[in-house]
Amino acid sequence: MNDGLVSTLRSQLRGAVIARGDAEYDEARALYNGMIDKKPLAVARCADVADVIAAVNYGRENALPIAMRGGGHNGPGLGSVDDGLVIDLSRMRGVRVDPESRTARVEAGCTQGDMDHATHAFGLAVPAGIISTTGIAGLTLGGGHGYLSRKYGLTIDNLLEADIVLADGSFVVASREQNPDLLWALRGGGGNFGVVTSFLFQLHPVKMVFAGPIAWDQQHARQIMRSYRDMLPQLPEELGIFLGLKTVPSSPPFPEQHWGKRICLLMCCYAGEESEGRKALAPLLEKLPEPWFNWMGTMPYPAVQSMFDPLFPKGMQWYWRGDFVKTLPDEAIEAHLEQAAKTPSELSLMHLYPIDGAVRRVPRDETAWSCRDATWSMVIAGIDPNPQKAGQITRWAKSYWDAVHPYDLGGAYPNFMMDDEGEGRIKATFGDNYPRLAAVKKHYDPANLFHVNHNIRPAA
Ligand SMILES: Cc1cc2nc3c(=O)[nH]c(=O)nc-3n(C[C@H](O)[C@H](O)[C@H](O)COP(=O)(O)OP(=O)(O)OC[C@H]3O[C@@H](n4cnc5c(N)ncnc54)[C@H](O)[C@@H]3O)c2cc1C
Repeated sequence: MNDGLVSTLRSQLRGAVIARGDAEYDEARALYNGMIDKKPLAVARCADVADVIAAVNYGRENALPIAMRGGGHNGPGLGSVDDGLVIDLSRMRGVRVDPESRTARVEAGCTQGDMDHATHAFGLAVPAGIISTTGIAGLTLGGGHGYLSRKYGLTIDNLLEADIVLADGSFVVASREQNPDLLWALRGGGGNFGVVTSFLFQLHPVKMVFAGPIAWDQQHARQIMRSYRDMLPQLPEELGIFLGLKTVPSSPPFPEQHWGKRICLLMCCYAGEESEGRKALAPLLEKLPEPWFNWMGTMPYPAVQSMFDPLFPKGMQWYWRGDFVKTLPDEAIEAHLEQAAKTPSELSLMHLYPIDGAVRRVPRDETAWSCRDATWSMVIAGIDPNPQKAGQITRWAKSYWDAVHPYDLGGAYPNFMMDDEGEGRIKATFGDNYPRLAAVKKHYDPANLFHVNHNIRPAA
């Protein structure tokens, strides 16, 4: 993109256009995953919908590959593209809560933290993920699961409407009344259909929660994993509870005597009174040994949503693999224990996030996200601040995944995929919904302008 072209784009936008050679270029192109080093021609930091329309038209007319960015958290860095145009919405962060209808209009550059902050003031919340810096756009379009999902479903199960700029630069609303096929596809089909500029979400009454981590020496992991597996279906849906095989970070506030030791963790969030939360957890905890620490307490919902933020600042090395898991036979637990014992760094982890309860009650064909019969969404993440450990954490995550994958379902949560798993994985993930997604793609983006994503090709 020569200077003339950049200045043409600049003249059309209220927001900044940052190109190669500009002082802010490296900061503007940096992604959450420090392992990814893409060099776009320019980053268009859109200020409003008009900017997004201009940027889409500009990218199409100049045959530039287009990437869309919300929070920039995507694992393989699909929020950027080499030698192309990044349409960056991170300056569009308004949230308007309507307490009457219990809905929130959320601009697509918001992080989870932005949304939680705005809705919490009204004692309301949308189910979303577990780190506050994650972008609402990528998270929602991929599905979105978190502590509230057992009770209130995925983020997409609460998506009522989206404003979107299509490949031809036109602006449409996707709702049950207008373009319902597009709304269906946006609910899990990712950034394949256009640039979403805002979302309308259903809110739920969640203000204070009883939440926090409980950690045991990993030598008890077999017993904890079995009890968690067996008891999850009976635990009330107000209890969001994921299991992790991890390491105690060697820093405060973690107890120094446990620094660097392997743990099995239950991270809990009960959306309700502390007394009820204690009762909900008691049948599980009374089967288990004394933990090393139990830090559960009553706190505002945004506090648990940002509890892990300090451990995972922007710029670390990440390689991850996921799967949907339906059952967890004893042999699978043994495979997990063997692999977790080889964890290559303090931050590397395996998490099993429950996606039962309300998630299961949505019919498979009601949204593009079709793995409604899984019990967990699993992620194995190799994480380390040191770029020199990139190879080691990648190899560990891949071999861990190889060892447990035989016990898992065919597809995986697209938001936990890198970009080296092949089209077959995407097709397995969407299953029977794939042909319909390809047909919607053909209708709204026949030339596949938006292909920097887990791509769904337009139907032939
Ligand atoms: C530390 C961490 C914790 C996480 N925890 C969870 C969790 O608890 N639950 C969960 O469900 N997921 C979780 N995720 C995964 C997360 O959902 C994905 O990484 C997601 O892609 C992040 O969205 P983003 O907007 O930040 O990403 P970006 O990198 O900005 O965008 C990712 C992709 O989303 C699409 N996209 C972005 N903006 C738009 C737009 N405006 N219009 C159309 N398409 C768009 C594009 O295809 C883009 O390539 C986590 C990720 C990280 C790194």
